Amino acid sequence: MKIKSIKGVKDILPGEIEKWQWVESVAQRLFSLYGFKEIRLPIFEYTDLFKRSIGDTTDIVEKEMYTFKDKGDNDITLRPEGTASVVRSYIEHNMHGQNPLTKLYYFGPMFRYERPQAGRLRQFYQIGVEAMGSSSPAIDAEVMTLLIEFFKELGLQELELQINSLGCKECRPQYRETLKLAIANHLKELCINCTQRYERNPLRVLDCKVERDVEIAKGLPKFKDHLCSQCQQDFAEVQKHLDAVNTSYRVNDRIVRGLDYYNKTTFEVIAKTGLGSQNAVCGGGRYDSLVEDFEGPPTPCFGFALGMERLISILPEEKLNHLEKSPDLYLVCLGEEAHNLAFQITHQLRTVGLYVEREIDGGSMKSQMRKANKLAARFALIVGDNEILNRRYVLKNMDGGDQWEIPADQLAEEVLSRLKPTD
Ligand code: ATP
Ligand code: MG
Repeated sequence: MKIKSIKGVKDILPGEIEKWQWVESVAQRLFSLYGFKEIRLPIFEYTDLFKRSIGDTTDIVEKEMYTFKDKGDNDITLRPEGTASVVRSYIEHNMHGQNPLTKLYYFGPMFRYERPQAGRLRQFYQIGVEAMGSSSPAIDAEVMTLLIEFFKELGLQELELQINSLGCKECRPQYRETLKLAIANHLKELCINCTQRYERNPLRVLDCKVERDVEIAKGLPKFKDHLCSQCQQDFAEVQKHLDAVNTSYRVNDRIVRGLDYYNKTTFEVIAKTGLGSQNAVCGGGRYDSLVEDFEGPPTPCFGFALGMERLISILPEEKLNHLEKSPDLYLVCLGEEAHNLAFQITHQLRTVGLYVEREIDGGSMKSQMRKANKLAARFALIVGDNEILNRRYVLKNMDGGDQWEIPADQLAEEVLSRLKPTD
């Protein structure tokens, strides 16, 4: 039986990977301008870490985790998201002692046992950003602005930043009770999921995707009318900061996020076209007590995670045309002598930084030139018996057809001088 990959898990092949590398390189450059440093985290952790941070009544913990016992009888889970690990690492390595504001980003695979479909995989990749150690609304605005600038650099325009406030320890419990009471009036109309979990997690009713529930949710009490004065003030300030740098957004009081640890500002970035019903590219917000919940010092945090597959699937075509690199030079070898020298010549040119290809098994001049063309090489270097005898090779510009005879002992310099620096 042929072995296939697991359902909902994908290979990323050459041709596609260039997009990923480009997105990652833009992220690396831009995030570092804002002072964020990369952190690489393990892909598995003790199950408790996720249970305690994400929350027992969330979809992720209830249904989606890849959990198993290892040979030492430990409960292990393949990470379904990155923030829990960042928090664990932050506390474990005493990062708060080194810097009052720690700014981190990560990139890597996440695992969730969901029903595979377009935009929903079982292994998918996220880029995440976490700013840890400040409760200032300016941080919320800065991180969301970083994200929007990132999308702009990638040429993504049809995106909408939607923000909301989920209140704090002061105002949230009361709002939850108000909401619960209001939901209780609709129990017969709501979907089974909502009726089952509204007592433990009433906020999730607000972002249920079932059509009828969406309609009911519109009539439920809104958090914005129940925020304490501090939360109201902070949320207004976030918006003021966003306005100041022209980061556009829309307040959407149905953004509640699927994870328990969020409070105050929460947000999603929605693609207006191109993603069908799986249209959230990114989600995030404030989580001010998670570090303390894990016995760390009081550390208010703000962060986000964005889904790479969804992002990559909506990258604009015009940005992708030049991602695949073509060879600087294609070596065309004719005759036995030339073939014997081919490895040395390619090696010599590669050591000065050129991207060189050749046909290992030789072939006719015509077939080798065809290959050079197919790969869109900028130059062909033609080496045959005569050229070796005269110690002069023929360098041919694949674009215009210009060609030059160049001395064998000045090969690298001559090729380099004719190659304008590539971008
Ligand atoms: P959704 O509502 O689409 O299930 P979520 O709220 O579960 O998303 P988060 O946990 O906030 O998602 O993850 C952040 C981002 O990661 C999402 O906005 C999405 O782009 C991406 N993402 C989440 N789950 C998957 C998945 N199973 N496959 C691919 N991408 C995903
Ligand atoms: Mg989900």
